[in-house]
Amino acid sequence: MKNKSTNRKNGLWTASFGEIGATLKALQDYGVTLEHLARLRAEPEYAKRVAEYILRGGVEYSEHHKLARALMNQNFFGIEDWTRFYKVSFSWEQLRQTPEFPWNKDILLSTCPLCCKIVKDCHFAFLGLDRINGDPLTFKKLQELHPATGHPKFASYYSKYDPHYSGKKFITETTMDFRWYLLHTDIVPGSENKTLEEQKAMLPAEYEIPSIVAETAKDLFVCRKTGTYAISAWFKRCADIRRSDGYDSHVSVRCYSKTEGLDFNNTFTDINVHNKLCIAASRKPGV
Ligand SMILES: [Zn+2]
Repeated sequence: MKNKSTNRKNGLWTASFGEIGATLKALQDYGVTLEHLARLRAEPEYAKRVAEYILRGGVEYSEHHKLARALMNQNFFGIEDWTRFYKVSFSWEQLRQTPEFPWNKDILLSTCPLCCKIVKDCHFAFLGLDRINGDPLTFKKLQELHPATGHPKFASYYSKYDPHYSGKKFITETTMDFRWYLLHTDIVPGSENKTLEEQKAMLPAEYEIPSIVAETAKDLFVCRKTGTYAISAWFKRCADIRRSDGYDSHVSVRCYSKTEGLDFNNTFTDINVHNKLCIAASRKPGV
């Protein structure tokens, strides 16, 4: 999926009188009155709904999509959020190709088999993109989108000279798919002090291990929507593998702290056990 980039450095207040006049005429031609504009100024919820409609390109979502978004509330990151937080500009064709949200109301309101809360409360749903404004959306790209001067941020950043990052395809090449994801927000409870095989055995059939780029994106989106990191201190094993000296290591990611931010770790092999090395979980589409 390709998204064209647009110049959004300037706020609405920089629009010229001519641009504002032409915009108002376009709205008036379709029946918008001064009363509508007054309502935009007076009613924040009305303004929010109008803005969301503009941000999603005027596309009407299905009733199922609207219900899922309402149920998930702040645990949801869709088209509007990509536009609002990352300035992604979607074409009409791209919006039409956006897949339907694959989990129904019964699943979202069911008891989570991992932590016994309600799925809608302990999971985070987001639309994964494989590209953002023309570039592959990799772990490295997520770092570029979240510099050390902002929040959320990373504890360290990619350098081709840094062996922590260099030569790792899951950092520079692996992207998310263009599809909906539903990830368990926190670690899988009780998965510490176990090998990878023991942790995998804890996952019900409806779940799989997410890629590090998907798990990291989820943590970033949680922070965008709530202002806080999903968890801290615990490493979450992801699906990507680093092979070294004959050992496989499923890499892990964690949020160190608000001051240090997110980072990944590849020092634990799959047979290592640690009291803060857990596993991440992603609900398979439609189940
Ligand atoms: Zn849960």
